[in-house]
Amino acid sequence: MAIRLYDSLAREIRELRPGDPDGVFRFYNCGPTVWAAAHIGNFRTFVINDVIRRMLELEFPGKVRHVRNLTDVDDRTIGQARAEKRPLAEITARWTELFHADCVALNCLAPHVEPRATGHIREQVDMIDVLMRKGNAYRAADGSVYFRITSFPNYGALSRIRERELKVTNSVFDADHKDDVGDFALWKAYKPEEDGDVQWGGPEGASAGRPGWHIECSAMIKKHLGETIDLHTGGVDLLFPHHENEIAQSQCCNGVTFSRHWYHSEHLLSDGTTMSKSKGNYYTLGDLVAKGYSPMAVRYVLLSGHPRKQLNFTLDSLHAAESALKALRRFSDSVGPPSGAPPSAIFDGVLASLSDDLNTPGALGALFTAINAFDARAATAADRAAFDRAMAVLGFNLPAGAPGAAAVPEAVDMLAKRRWDAKKAKDFATADALRGELASAGWSMLDGKDGYRLEPLKKA
Ligand code: AMP
Ligand code: ZN
Repeated sequence: MAIRLYDSLAREIRELRPGDPDGVFRFYNCGPTVWAAAHIGNFRTFVINDVIRRMLELEFPGKVRHVRNLTDVDDRTIGQARAEKRPLAEITARWTELFHADCVALNCLAPHVEPRATGHIREQVDMIDVLMRKGNAYRAADGSVYFRITSFPNYGALSRIRERELKVTNSVFDADHKDDVGDFALWKAYKPEEDGDVQWGGPEGASAGRPGWHIECSAMIKKHLGETIDLHTGGVDLLFPHHENEIAQSQCCNGVTFSRHWYHSEHLLSDGTTMSKSKGNYYTLGDLVAKGYSPMAVRYVLLSGHPRKQLNFTLDSLHAAESALKALRRFSDSVGPPSGAPPSAIFDGVLASLSDDLNTPGALGALFTAINAFDARAATAADRAAFDRAMAVLGFNLPAGAPGAAAVPEAVDMLAKRRWDAKKAKDFATADALRGELASAGWSMLDGKDGYRLEPLKKA
């Protein structure tokens, strides 16, 4: 089934296809800035991209190459290191570790390569050298290097940014040193009062300093995926200036199309405005887990709205997601064990919706329509396989993440076994007493014909 996805540059829905004769699909997703805990808004973007990755794996098995970077040097990371008086590498290692743990909890597949900006200074400097030699970049009076946007006639094609807006947005860094307010920094000269001990040798003729933010993605893409890639993604806020600037740098340096397809997903809102660290209106995954919600419910909520529309986050939506996951788990328990049979067509609507511009709410709707119409008693091994494939492409890890599958403490497990034995021996008084003990431990026991399942009781 061809995957069709909106292309933010072409401004139409287009099929995703590898462009190179080797058939490898080259996919780059701008990663997190590791200066603090990522919030669930950031994870909306990463979970959506995880579904794209899973769709690609299904469509081009063994041929997908997914790269997602870590921004580990910029104003925010340096600012945090200075505020804590700790080395930059220590700060970024801490938040990288948490990011990885959250990705695992949300069942996001690891990218094939996860390059760091600080590990690619040489590559960034090399690109800046080429841009200066070609006349696309110039050294400013303070030793910084800027990209000259008038040297790239196509500048603005992605964002269709009007000149007026350009002046406002690209001018945040040292307008005084630039030839034109729209020009943006490729290299930032060292400033002792801001940069602490963070500096590297710069491009030819420039001062020591650090790379501008945009050049890191251009350099890491060139190194790990090549000069032309098949798909480049990120949240909508990256469209301008970040991606516009990446296109300008890469195309001027390499002389070829940078990305064949662009995709931007919309923001998660909280109280009607974009969730962001600076506004303070955010939750981290850890905040929600501490309130008793499962990471899978968070994943479910993040996929419940169309990725190209804003989605307002509420705790109520998490409650609904927990119930939906319970229903999925019940269904999973009723359709028999996995067998390696080829999937039946009962959940094809899920794949059809995802292939149609990544319609995740449509996919969830198709999933439940199929489940509700289904008679589990008639389930075949092929239906089980179809269900597992639908779960896999949506990334729902029912055994590890759904409420029914939380790790059962050994003591609780022993109580449950004793109760099951008592029930089988028709000692109902003991069985009832043990049910009470389980409840005080926070667990409920759901009896089936041949076995039981333990579920944590909902917290009040
Ligand atoms: P950052 O760590 O700030 O570099 O952002 C990482 C990713 O999260 C980027 O792709 C952003 O576009 C995305 N992002 C930031 N805020 C939100 C939000 N409220 N909703 C969805 N994605 C977001
Ligand atoms: Zn980027």
